Amino acid sequence: MPEISAKAPKRPPLGILLPPLLIALSVAFWWRYHPRPEPPPMTGQALLRLASDTDFHNLEPAPSPLPWEHYTIAPGDYLTHLWQEQWQLPAATLYRLIKTADHGELLNRLRPGQHLEWRADSDGKLLALRLWENEAKGYQWNLDQDSITARPLEKARSSQRVRITGVVKTSLGAALSVQPALAGAAGSVSAQLAELLPVGRQARHGDRFSVLVDVENLEGSERAYSAKLMGFEYQGARLRASAARFDDDRFYKPDGTSLLPSFWRHPFPDKLRYRISSPFNLHRHHPVTGRISPHYGTDFAMPVGTAVEAPADGVVRRVTRGLLAGNYVVLDHGNGYQTRYMHLSKVRVHTGDTVQQGQVIALSGNTGRSTGPHLHYELRMNGRPVNAMKVPLPTKGQLAKDELMRFRNQYAAYFDFPANPNDGTEVAHRDPEQ
Ligand SMILES: [Zn+2]
Repeated sequence: MPEISAKAPKRPPLGILLPPLLIALSVAFWWRYHPRPEPPPMTGQALLRLASDTDFHNLEPAPSPLPWEHYTIAPGDYLTHLWQEQWQLPAATLYRLIKTADHGELLNRLRPGQHLEWRADSDGKLLALRLWENEAKGYQWNLDQDSITARPLEKARSSQRVRITGVVKTSLGAALSVQPALAGAAGSVSAQLAELLPVGRQARHGDRFSVLVDVENLEGSERAYSAKLMGFEYQGARLRASAARFDDDRFYKPDGTSLLPSFWRHPFPDKLRYRISSPFNLHRHHPVTGRISPHYGTDFAMPVGTAVEAPADGVVRRVTRGLLAGNYVVLDHGNGYQTRYMHLSKVRVHTGDTVQQGQVIALSGNTGRSTGPHLHYELRMNGRPVNAMKVPLPTKGQLAKDELMRFRNQYAAYFDFPANPNDGTEVAHRDPEQ
Protein backbone atom coordinates (compact mmCIF):
# COMPACT_ATOMS: atom_id res chain seq x y z
CA MET A 1 0.00 0.00 0.00
CA PRO A 2 1.20 3.48 -0.79
CA GLU A 3 2.18 5.44 2.21
CA ILE A 4 0.14 8.48 3.09
CA SER A 5 2.24 11.54 3.26
CA ALA A 6 1.61 13.56 6.40
CA LYS A 7 2.62 16.90 5.11
CA ALA A 8 1.08 18.00 1.86
CA PRO A 9 2.78 21.28 1.06
CA LYS A 10 -0.10 22.91 -0.82
CA ARG A 11 -3.86 22.18 -0.84
CA PRO A 12 -5.06 21.91 -4.51
CA PRO A 13 -8.31 23.76 -5.34
CA LEU A 14 -11.56 21.73 -5.02
CA GLY A 15 -12.59 22.43 -8.64
CA ILE A 16 -9.67 20.36 -9.92
CA LEU A 17 -10.23 17.45 -7.51
CA LEU A 18 -13.99 17.08 -7.88
CA PRO A 19 -14.32 15.36 -11.32
CA PRO A 20 -11.88 12.53 -10.63
CA LEU A 21 -13.46 12.04 -7.20
CA LEU A 22 -16.92 11.67 -8.76
CA ILE A 23 -15.59 9.15 -11.30
CA ALA A 24 -13.95 7.10 -8.59
CA LEU A 25 -17.14 7.10 -6.52
CA SER A 26 -19.32 5.95 -9.40
CA VAL A 27 -16.89 3.15 -10.31
CA ALA A 28 -16.92 2.00 -6.69
CA PHE A 29 -20.72 2.12 -6.64
CA TRP A 30 -20.97 0.09 -9.86
CA TRP A 31 -18.48 -2.47 -8.56
CA ARG A 32 -20.43 -2.94 -5.35
CA TYR A 33 -23.96 -3.13 -6.75
CA HIS A 34 -23.91 -4.46 -10.31
CA PRO A 35 -25.42 -7.98 -10.65
CA ARG A 36 -22.81 -10.73 -10.66
CA PRO A 37 -23.33 -14.50 -11.12
CA GLU A 38 -22.86 -16.76 -8.04
CA PRO A 39 -19.43 -18.43 -8.15
CA PRO A 40 -19.69 -22.16 -9.00
CA PRO A 41 -19.41 -24.53 -6.00
CA MET A 42 -15.81 -25.57 -5.41
CA THR A 43 -14.77 -29.05 -6.36
CA GLY A 44 -12.65 -31.10 -3.99
CA GLN A 45 -9.65 -30.61 -6.20
CA ALA A 46 -10.13 -26.88 -6.30
CA LEU A 47 -10.39 -26.82 -2.53
CA LEU A 48 -7.18 -28.78 -2.25
CA ARG A 49 -5.47 -26.45 -4.64
CA LEU A 50 -6.70 -23.52 -2.65
CA ALA A 51 -5.48 -25.10 0.58
CA SER A 52 -2.03 -25.75 -0.79
CA ASP A 53 -1.89 -22.32 -2.37
CA THR A 54 -2.91 -20.83 0.94
CA ASP A 55 -0.22 -22.73 2.80
CA PHE A 56 2.28 -21.74 0.29
CA HIS A 57 1.52 -18.06 0.36
CA ASN A 58 0.66 -17.55 3.99
CA LEU A 59 3.63 -19.28 5.57
CA GLU A 60 7.23 -18.34 5.57
CA PRO A 61 8.65 -19.83 2.41
CA ALA A 62 10.04 -23.20 3.70
CA PRO A 63 13.19 -24.61 2.11
CA SER A 64 11.96 -27.24 -0.32
CA PRO A 65 12.56 -30.87 0.69
CA LEU A 66 15.26 -32.76 -1.16
CA PRO A 67 14.66 -36.23 -2.58
CA TRP A 68 15.02 -39.30 -0.35
CA GLU A 69 18.57 -40.43 0.16
CA HIS A 70 19.40 -44.00 1.11
CA TYR A 71 22.20 -46.09 2.51
CA THR A 72 22.73 -49.73 3.46
CA ILE A 73 24.74 -50.31 6.62
CA ALA A 74 28.01 -52.13 5.97
CA PRO A 75 30.17 -53.97 8.50
CA GLY A 76 32.31 -51.52 10.47
CA ASP A 77 30.05 -48.54 9.78
CA TYR A 78 29.74 -45.97 12.53
CA LEU A 79 26.48 -44.05 12.35
CA THR A 80 27.76 -40.85 13.98
CA HIS A 81 30.51 -40.68 11.42
CA LEU A 82 28.22 -41.37 8.45
CA TRP A 83 25.67 -38.91 9.77
CA GLN A 84 27.99 -35.95 10.11
CA GLU A 85 30.78 -36.57 7.64
CA GLN A 86 29.01 -38.22 4.75
CA TRP A 87 25.40 -37.18 5.01
CA GLN A 88 26.07 -33.66 6.39
CA LEU A 89 23.27 -33.95 8.93
CA PRO A 90 23.35 -32.17 12.31
CA ALA A 91 24.69 -34.36 15.12
CA ALA A 92 22.19 -32.87 17.58
CA THR A 93 19.32 -34.32 15.54
CA LEU A 94 20.78 -37.81 15.79
CA TYR A 95 21.11 -37.53 19.59
CA ARG A 96 17.57 -36.17 19.79
CA LEU A 97 16.31 -39.16 17.77
CA ILE A 98 18.16 -41.73 19.85
CA LYS A 99 17.32 -40.18 23.21
CA THR A 100 13.76 -38.98 22.75
CA ALA A 101 12.07 -40.63 19.78
CA ASP A 102 9.97 -43.78 20.11
CA HIS A 103 12.14 -46.72 19.02
CA GLY A 104 15.00 -44.27 18.49
CA GLU A 105 17.31 -46.62 20.40
CA LEU A 106 17.24 -48.86 17.31
CA LEU A 107 19.65 -46.39 15.73
CA ASN A 108 22.16 -47.34 18.41
CA ARG A 109 22.09 -50.98 17.34
CA LEU A 110 22.27 -50.91 13.58
CA ARG A 111 23.27 -54.13 11.91
CA PRO A 112 24.99 -54.60 8.56
CA GLY A 113 22.42 -54.95 5.81
CA GLN A 114 19.86 -52.67 7.42
CA HIS A 115 18.69 -49.90 5.19
CA LEU A 116 18.29 -46.20 6.03
CA GLU A 117 16.41 -43.59 4.02
CA TRP A 118 16.23 -39.92 4.87
CA ARG A 119 15.05 -36.62 3.56
CA ALA A 120 16.40 -33.21 4.47
CA ASP A 121 15.53 -29.72 3.38
CA SER A 122 17.88 -27.52 1.41
CA ASP A 123 19.21 -26.08 4.68
CA GLY A 124 20.40 -29.54 5.72
CA LYS A 125 17.67 -29.96 8.34
CA LEU A 126 16.41 -33.53 8.68
CA LEU A 127 12.70 -33.86 7.88
CA ALA A 128 12.21 -37.62 8.00
CA LEU A 129 14.21 -40.77 8.57
CA ARG A 130 13.33 -44.36 7.81
CA LEU A 131 15.03 -47.42 9.20
CA TRP A 132 14.28 -50.74 7.55
CA GLU A 133 15.16 -53.30 10.21
CA ASN A 134 14.73 -55.99 7.61
CA GLU A 135 13.37 -56.17 4.10
CA ALA A 136 9.79 -56.07 5.31
CA LYS A 137 9.61 -53.93 8.46
CA GLY A 138 10.92 -50.76 9.96
CA TYR A 139 10.11 -47.32 11.37
CA GLN A 140 9.76 -43.83 10.01
CA TRP A 141 10.41 -40.77 12.16
CA ASN A 142 8.99 -37.44 11.07
CA LEU A 143 10.70 -34.43 12.58
CA ASP A 144 9.41 -30.94 13.01
CA GLN A 145 10.43 -28.01 15.15
CA ASP A 146 9.52 -29.47 18.51
CA SER A 147 8.42 -33.05 18.08
CA ILE A 148 9.36 -36.35 16.53
CA THR A 149 6.65 -38.78 15.60
CA ALA A 150 7.38 -42.43 14.87
CA ARG A 151 5.29 -44.75 12.79
CA PRO A 152 5.89 -48.38 11.90
CA LEU A 153 6.59 -49.26 8.30
CA GLU A 154 5.54 -52.52 6.79
CA LYS A 155 5.76 -53.54 3.17
CA ALA A 156 2.69 -55.17 1.69
CA ARG A 157 3.15 -58.85 0.92
CA SER A 158 1.60 -61.03 -1.66
CA SER A 159 1.72 -64.78 -1.69
CA GLN A 160 1.24 -67.23 -4.48
CA ARG A 161 1.52 -70.96 -4.83
CA VAL A 162 3.82 -71.99 -7.64
CA ARG A 163 4.49 -75.38 -9.09
CA ILE A 164 7.94 -75.85 -10.52
CA THR A 165 8.93 -78.84 -12.55
CA GLY A 166 12.36 -79.66 -13.85
CA VAL A 167 14.93 -82.22 -14.79
CA VAL A 168 18.05 -82.88 -12.72
CA LYS A 169 21.33 -82.39 -14.56
CA THR A 170 23.83 -82.38 -11.71
CA SER A 171 21.91 -82.05 -8.45
CA LEU A 172 18.45 -81.15 -7.28
CA GLY A 173 19.81 -78.01 -5.60
CA ALA A 174 21.36 -76.84 -8.86
CA ALA A 175 18.11 -77.54 -10.73
CA LEU A 176 16.15 -75.44 -8.20
CA SER A 177 18.64 -72.59 -8.24
CA VAL A 178 17.90 -71.75 -11.87
CA GLN A 179 14.13 -71.41 -11.37
CA PRO A 180 13.15 -67.74 -11.80
CA ALA A 181 10.07 -68.15 -9.58
CA LEU A 182 12.37 -69.09 -6.69
CA ALA A 183 14.82 -66.21 -7.16
CA GLY A 184 16.12 -65.35 -3.71
CA ALA A 185 14.66 -68.47 -2.06
CA ALA A 186 16.09 -71.42 -3.97
CA GLY A 187 18.53 -72.17 -1.14
CA SER A 188 15.74 -72.21 1.42
CA VAL A 189 13.60 -74.53 -0.71
CA SER A 190 16.59 -76.83 -1.24
CA ALA A 191 17.21 -76.98 2.50
CA GLN A 192 13.56 -77.68 3.30
CA LEU A 193 13.50 -80.41 0.70
CA ALA A 194 16.76 -81.96 1.88
CA GLU A 195 15.31 -82.45 5.37
CA LEU A 196 12.44 -84.46 3.98
CA LEU A 197 13.97 -86.10 0.95
CA PRO A 198 17.69 -86.77 1.21
CA VAL A 199 18.23 -87.22 -2.51
CA GLY A 200 21.98 -86.64 -2.25
CA ARG A 201 23.99 -89.21 -4.14
CA GLN A 202 20.87 -90.96 -5.37
CA ALA A 203 20.22 -88.15 -7.84
CA ARG A 204 20.78 -89.17 -11.44
CA HIS A 205 20.99 -87.12 -14.60
CA GLY A 206 17.52 -86.99 -16.10
CA ASP A 207 15.57 -87.48 -12.84
CA ARG A 208 12.33 -85.48 -12.91
CA PHE A 209 10.97 -83.47 -10.05
CA SER A 210 8.17 -81.11 -9.24
CA VAL A 211 7.86 -78.91 -6.17
CA LEU A 212 4.90 -76.95 -4.88
CA VAL A 213 5.99 -73.78 -3.07
CA ASP A 214 4.17 -70.88 -1.41
CA VAL A 215 6.27 -67.90 -2.44
CA GLU A 216 5.88 -64.59 -0.66
CA ASN A 217 6.93 -61.35 -2.34
CA LEU A 218 7.29 -57.92 -0.83
CA GLU A 219 5.77 -54.96 -2.62
CA GLY A 220 8.16 -53.67 -5.24
CA SER A 221 10.49 -56.67 -5.18
CA GLU A 222 10.91 -59.40 -7.73
CA ARG A 223 12.86 -61.63 -5.38
CA ALA A 224 11.05 -64.05 -3.11
CA TYR A 225 10.94 -62.85 0.50
CA SER A 226 10.04 -66.27 1.85
CA ALA A 227 9.26 -69.66 0.45
CA LYS A 228 7.44 -72.52 2.12
CA LEU A 229 7.68 -75.96 0.58
CA MET A 230 4.16 -77.40 0.34
CA GLY A 231 4.74 -80.53 -1.68
CA PHE A 232 7.22 -82.44 -3.79
CA GLU A 233 7.34 -85.24 -6.24
CA TYR A 234 10.55 -86.95 -7.30
CA GLN A 235 10.68 -89.48 -10.09
CA GLY A 236 14.23 -90.69 -10.37
CA ALA A 237 16.14 -93.72 -11.54
CA ARG A 238 17.04 -94.61 -7.96
CA LEU A 239 14.48 -92.73 -5.90
CA ARG A 240 10.76 -92.11 -6.20
CA ALA A 241 8.88 -90.13 -3.62
CA SER A 242 6.06 -87.69 -3.23
CA ALA A 243 4.50 -85.97 -0.25
CA ALA A 244 2.70 -82.79 0.70
CA ARG A 245 2.22 -80.64 3.76
CA PHE A 246 -0.98 -81.13 5.74
CA ASP A 247 -2.74 -78.77 8.21
CA ASP A 248 -0.53 -80.04 11.06
CA ASP A 249 2.54 -78.85 9.08
CA ARG A 250 3.78 -82.40 8.59
CA PHE A 251 4.32 -84.13 5.29
CA TYR A 252 2.21 -87.08 4.21
CA LYS A 253 2.44 -89.35 1.23
CA PRO A 254 -0.49 -89.41 -1.19
CA ASP A 255 -1.92 -92.45 0.61
CA GLY A 256 -1.97 -90.54 3.92
CA THR A 257 0.97 -92.23 5.63
CA SER A 258 3.41 -89.94 7.35
CA LEU A 259 6.52 -89.21 5.32
CA LEU A 260 8.67 -89.37 8.42
CA PRO A 261 8.33 -92.44 10.56
CA SER A 262 6.13 -92.02 13.58
CA PHE A 263 8.33 -91.22 16.58
CA TRP A 264 7.91 -91.79 20.27
CA ARG A 265 9.20 -89.06 22.52
CA HIS A 266 11.02 -91.61 24.75
CA PRO A 267 12.79 -94.86 23.89
CA PHE A 268 10.50 -96.78 26.23
CA PRO A 269 6.73 -97.10 26.50
CA ASP A 270 5.29 -93.72 27.44
CA LYS A 271 3.58 -94.94 30.60
CA LEU A 272 6.94 -95.87 32.08
CA ARG A 273 8.58 -92.56 32.80
CA TYR A 274 12.06 -92.21 34.18
CA ARG A 275 13.56 -89.15 35.79
CA ILE A 276 15.79 -87.04 33.55
CA SER A 277 19.10 -86.93 35.42
CA SER A 278 20.84 -84.70 32.90
CA PRO A 279 19.02 -82.83 30.11
CA PHE A 280 20.17 -81.97 26.60
CA ASN A 281 22.39 -78.90 26.92
CA LEU A 282 24.72 -77.48 24.29
CA HIS A 283 26.33 -75.13 26.84
CA ARG A 284 26.79 -77.48 29.76
CA HIS A 285 29.82 -76.92 31.93
CA HIS A 286 31.71 -80.07 32.65
CA PRO A 287 31.24 -80.89 36.35
CA VAL A 288 35.00 -81.58 36.78
CA THR A 289 36.91 -79.40 34.29
CA GLY A 290 34.41 -76.49 34.33
CA ARG A 291 34.87 -76.14 30.61
CA ILE A 292 31.95 -76.05 28.16
CA SER A 293 31.21 -79.64 27.37
CA PRO A 294 27.94 -79.96 25.50
CA HIS A 295 25.56 -82.74 26.44
CA TYR A 296 24.12 -83.99 23.16
CA GLY A 297 21.59 -86.33 24.74
CA THR A 298 19.05 -86.77 27.49
CA ASP A 299 20.04 -88.95 30.45
CA PHE A 300 17.33 -91.02 32.12
CA ALA A 301 18.09 -92.47 35.53
CA MET A 302 16.94 -96.08 35.27
CA PRO A 303 17.88 -99.36 36.90
CA VAL A 304 20.34 -101.60 35.07
CA GLY A 305 18.45 -104.04 32.83
CA THR A 306 15.53 -101.77 31.87
CA ALA A 307 14.24 -102.51 28.35
CA VAL A 308 15.17 -99.85 25.77
CA GLU A 309 12.78 -99.77 22.80
CA ALA A 310 13.17 -98.33 19.32
CA PRO A 311 11.16 -95.05 19.31
CA ALA A 312 10.55 -95.42 15.55
CA ASP A 313 11.02 -97.92 12.74
CA GLY A 314 14.56 -98.01 11.44
CA VAL A 315 17.73 -99.86 10.69
CA VAL A 316 20.58 -100.64 13.12
CA ARG A 317 23.49 -98.58 11.86
CA ARG A 318 26.11 -99.42 14.47
CA VAL A 319 26.65 -101.62 17.53
CA THR A 320 29.89 -100.94 19.32
CA ARG A 321 31.62 -100.59 22.67
CA GLY A 322 33.48 -97.41 23.60
CA LEU A 323 35.54 -96.22 26.55
CA LEU A 324 33.22 -93.35 27.25
CA ALA A 325 29.94 -94.50 25.70
CA GLY A 326 30.14 -98.08 26.93
CA ASN A 327 27.87 -100.40 24.95
CA TYR A 328 26.54 -98.19 22.24
CA VAL A 329 23.83 -98.53 19.55
CA VAL A 330 23.01 -96.23 16.64
CA LEU A 331 19.69 -96.51 14.82
CA ASP A 332 18.92 -94.91 11.48
CA HIS A 333 15.27 -93.97 10.92
CA GLY A 334 15.65 -92.51 7.44
CA ASN A 335 15.04 -88.96 6.27
CA GLY A 336 17.98 -87.72 8.29
CA TYR A 337 16.77 -89.01 11.68
CA GLN A 338 19.19 -91.00 13.82
CA THR A 339 19.04 -92.10 17.47
CA ARG A 340 21.93 -93.17 19.74
CA TYR A 341 21.94 -95.14 23.00
CA MET A 342 24.86 -95.32 25.44
CA HIS A 343 25.99 -97.07 28.66
CA LEU A 344 23.89 -100.16 27.80
CA SER A 345 24.33 -103.43 29.69
CA LYS A 346 23.13 -105.71 26.86
CA VAL A 347 22.49 -105.15 23.17
CA ARG A 348 19.76 -107.23 21.52
CA VAL A 349 20.28 -106.25 17.85
CA HIS A 350 22.99 -106.46 15.19
CA THR A 351 24.27 -103.95 12.67
CA GLY A 352 22.02 -104.01 9.61
CA ASP A 353 18.93 -105.34 11.41
CA THR A 354 15.61 -103.74 10.63
CA VAL A 355 13.81 -102.71 13.80
CA GLN A 356 10.23 -101.71 14.42
CA GLN A 357 8.84 -99.08 16.72
CA GLY A 358 8.57 -100.58 20.20
CA GLN A 359 11.04 -103.40 19.56
CA VAL A 360 13.45 -103.98 22.47
CA ILE A 361 16.89 -103.15 21.12
CA ALA A 362 18.91 -103.26 24.37
CA LEU A 363 18.89 -103.21 28.16
CA SER A 364 20.06 -100.12 29.98
CA GLY A 365 23.20 -100.25 32.11
CA ASN A 366 26.13 -98.42 33.60
CA THR A 367 28.96 -99.19 31.13
CA GLY A 368 31.64 -96.76 29.92
CA ARG A 369 32.20 -93.47 31.76
CA SER A 370 29.06 -93.29 33.79
CA THR A 371 28.44 -92.07 37.32
CA GLY A 372 25.42 -94.30 37.89
CA PRO A 373 22.92 -96.50 36.09
CA HIS A 374 21.33 -94.43 33.36
CA LEU A 375 20.45 -94.36 29.68
CA HIS A 376 21.97 -91.69 27.46
CA TYR A 377 19.51 -91.13 24.60
CA GLU A 378 20.39 -88.92 21.65
CA LEU A 379 18.45 -87.77 18.58
CA ARG A 380 20.19 -86.33 15.53
CA MET A 381 18.55 -84.66 12.57
CA ASN A 382 20.74 -84.52 9.49
CA GLY A 383 23.76 -85.09 11.68
CA ARG A 384 22.92 -82.30 14.10
CA PRO A 385 22.13 -83.25 17.71
CA VAL A 386 18.72 -81.90 18.75
CA ASN A 387 16.79 -81.96 22.00
CA ALA A 388 14.77 -85.16 21.74
CA MET A 389 12.44 -83.97 24.50
CA LYS A 390 11.58 -80.70 22.76
CA VAL A 391 11.93 -81.03 18.99
CA PRO A 392 8.65 -81.49 17.07
CA LEU A 393 8.31 -85.16 16.23
CA PRO A 394 6.01 -86.87 13.80
CA THR A 395 3.83 -88.72 16.26
CA LYS A 396 1.10 -89.54 13.78
CA GLY A 397 1.82 -92.40 11.39
CA GLN A 398 -1.31 -92.17 9.28
CA LEU A 399 -3.97 -89.58 8.55
CA ALA A 400 -7.44 -90.48 9.82
CA LYS A 401 -10.17 -91.06 7.22
CA ASP A 402 -11.63 -87.52 7.33
CA GLU A 403 -8.14 -85.98 7.36
CA LEU A 404 -7.15 -88.04 4.35
CA MET A 405 -10.23 -86.76 2.50
CA ARG A 406 -9.26 -83.20 3.28
CA PHE A 407 -5.63 -83.84 2.33
CA ARG A 408 -6.64 -85.33 -1.02
CA ASN A 409 -8.96 -82.45 -1.78
CA GLN A 410 -6.23 -79.96 -0.95
CA TYR A 411 -3.70 -81.52 -3.30
CA ALA A 412 -5.96 -83.11 -5.90
CA ALA A 413 -4.64 -80.75 -8.54
CA TYR A 414 -1.04 -81.45 -7.59
CA PHE A 415 -0.96 -85.19 -7.10
CA ASP A 416 -2.80 -87.34 -9.51
CA PHE A 417 -3.97 -89.61 -6.73
CA PRO A 418 -3.78 -93.27 -7.67
CA ALA A 419 -6.98 -95.29 -7.43
CA ASN A 420 -5.23 -97.81 -5.25
CA PRO A 421 -3.47 -96.15 -2.31
CA ASN A 422 -0.84 -98.87 -2.37
CA ASP A 423 0.41 -97.46 -5.65
CA GLY A 424 1.68 -94.43 -3.73
CA THR A 425 5.36 -93.85 -4.20
CA GLU A 426 7.80 -94.63 -1.39
CA VAL A 427 10.63 -92.70 0.15
CA ALA A 428 13.76 -94.79 0.39
CA HIS A 429 14.42 -95.10 4.10
CA ARG A 430 17.99 -96.23 3.86
CA ASP A 431 20.91 -93.88 3.75
CA PRO A 432 22.98 -94.30 0.56
CA GLU A 433 25.97 -95.23 2.75
CA GLN A 434 24.29 -98.43 3.87
ZN1 LIG B 1 24.41 -88.40 28.73
